[in-house]
Amino acid sequence: MAWSGAGRGAWLTVTVGILSLQAWGGAARAQDGEADFPGAAVRFSPHADARPAGTVIDTIVLHDTETPGVRKAEVVARWFLNPASGVSAHYIIGKDGEVVQCVREADRAFHAGPSLFRGRSRVNDFSIGVELVNGQTGSDPFPAAQMTTLVTLVRHLCVRWSIPADRVVGHHDITLRPHLKRDPAPNFPWPAFTAALWASLPSALAAGAQEP
Ligand SMILES: [Zn+2]
Repeated sequence: MAWSGAGRGAWLTVTVGILSLQAWGGAARAQDGEADFPGAAVRFSPHADARPAGTVIDTIVLHDTETPGVRKAEVVARWFLNPASGVSAHYIIGKDGEVVQCVREADRAFHAGPSLFRGRSRVNDFSIGVELVNGQTGSDPFPAAQMTTLVTLVRHLCVRWSIPADRVVGHHDITLRPHLKRDPAPNFPWPAFTAALWASLPSALAAGAQEP
């Protein structure tokens, strides 16, 4: 089923039900080789480094991969590990909902490029990047499995790093090259995503969110 505005109420109910069965909140740093997000495969990219000293991680940037015909996160991970790419993101979510982690959450990934958010440049310094496998055609769907995982992953990040819901943004919202970076695609279901995320978060983190 395509993830769209239709049937949103039923979808939201199912999602919140699933989330309620899961226990997140483990704040301990993952051991080498283990994912920070439970269940994620780990394929560490060389395109990462330490954040500036004292940086507080307080923003989440959503992207899509602009890869028509690709379904699996593993395919995109190979590009992030390729020395020719020079780019990365912390997480990739496939159309099947499978997750690959390419950069430790505590480290800086190279996903946002020249960017500005609420008066601060270099958004890579203080953000976590999440890539959704999508063709960015505007009609390529974001399947339910992918969106369910996205809500669960973003909830994990918001809780672990105390990030309020109104600091979850799209690449297009923060790039200084809006003519080049239009992601996530225009059919990304922001209202339904925001509603599901908001419903899943503790009230202190959801409080900053705009009513969708
Ligand atoms: Zn992007």
